[in-house]
Amino acid sequence: MSATRKSTYDVIIVGGGVMGCSIAYNLIRSDNNLDIVIVEKDPTYTKSSTILSEGNIRVQFNVKENIEMSLFGIQVLSRFSEEMAVLNDKPDVNFRQQGNLFIVDESNYAEAKQGFVLQKSLGCQVEWLQPDQIHNYYPYYNLSGCVAATYGSQDGTIAPNAVLTGYKNKALSLGVSVITDTVSRIITKNEQVDGVKLDKGHYLISNIVVNAAGAWAPKIASTANINLPIVPVKRQVTVIESNLRPANLLPAIFFSSGLYCFHEGQGVFTCARSRPDDFITYNDFKWDRHLFEELLWKDLLEVIPEFDRLKATSGWAGLYAENTFDGNAILGEWPTLKGCFLANGFSGHGLQQCHAVGRYISELILHHPHLLDLSIFSPERIKENRPVYESRSKII
Ligand SMILES: Cc1cc2nc3c(=O)[nH]c(=O)nc-3n(C[C@H](O)[C@H](O)[C@H](O)COP(=O)(O)OP(=O)(O)OC[C@H]3O[C@@H](n4cnc5c(N)ncnc54)[C@H](O)[C@@H]3O)c2cc1C
Repeated sequence: MSATRKSTYDVIIVGGGVMGCSIAYNLIRSDNNLDIVIVEKDPTYTKSSTILSEGNIRVQFNVKENIEMSLFGIQVLSRFSEEMAVLNDKPDVNFRQQGNLFIVDESNYAEAKQGFVLQKSLGCQVEWLQPDQIHNYYPYYNLSGCVAATYGSQDGTIAPNAVLTGYKNKALSLGVSVITDTVSRIITKNEQVDGVKLDKGHYLISNIVVNAAGAWAPKIASTANINLPIVPVKRQVTVIESNLRPANLLPAIFFSSGLYCFHEGQGVFTCARSRPDDFITYNDFKWDRHLFEELLWKDLLEVIPEFDRLKATSGWAGLYAENTFDGNAILGEWPTLKGCFLANGFSGHGLQQCHAVGRYISELILHHPHLLDLSIFSPERIKENRPVYESRSKII
């Protein structure tokens, strides 16, 4: 992972999380003459959202392009191990397609129906369930307030670390460099990117810089006078041990309140919930037991009464790069700064979108035709005030 300390590159990528590594891989795969460098400040990835992710994948979105990204991601995952093999080392992303179950109540009925129809029209494997069918999928759910549910059998979970290292190791094996340093600012000249300055004092020159800095993206963007509508939101996940020991893995279950619960096997579950008063912070990565015991457990009990006796054994917290403009990704070149590409604002669904985003950003940079047209997520929409809402994106 050592860096070739050069000063000029075809492409500089700020941030070596799953986005930066997927973009690097897709670029080098398309043109192996490119000189690409990833600058990553923390090679241990302690605070990177990728490593702290829950790893859930779903086709159950309401915006066509989000669904298409997930379908593409599922295709990539099916060949990931072979495609990312380096010599005999094949990454195992442990894709468990246990399905996702979204509970529908009066408040989200119209949205769920609309999403379901769209997902079906795009070929997704989703079912609309009446309340009396839900117990076949989730016998412990008490049906309170429920009017229906949607079940996606392609949905599931993957190991985030394996996706990251798969992309990273393959990109490195094909000639991408990595520098361990912090980008302190983007250098510009006449409305064109000219490179970056590193904390340790060096300059790297390139007329293409990709901001893949996750929750830190607005900090980097601001050094080039780009005001990104992204805030770092703390998301806490709690691990619980309960007496529930279903023989098979249960689907991940999601509620319109933003609460969700994943069965990890045996009696172990993880759960979390997005809240309007979630902390905005760059400094707090501590799991707080009280947040679970005082704010979440009660709601969990209402929907799954068997959780009346459980042990909250541990947990972790990471950052969502939350797009406060419309909750969706921001993808493409910033309209008033040539060469400055953004892959930012993924909130809780970036891990599953990294495959499509890596491909799309590389196509934009190389002026190649697009496999998926993701221009709906272009940064222009912010300047032109054209939000693209996907309200379920707040759930995970
Ligand atoms: C608790 C939690 C659960 C989640 N669950 C899911 C899920 O189930 N499904 C899903 O799809 N998504 C999920 N996500 C979201 C997903 O993890 C992210 O959207 C995705 O990992 C973003 O990848 P990234 O590469 O943009 O960011 P990161 O992984 O954060 O990578 C950005 C990198 O940039 C580096 N960096 C930042 N600033 C600089 C700088 N100035 N110089 C150099 N390097 C810099 C950072 O060190 C970091 O490694 C979850 C996130 C969290 C926190």
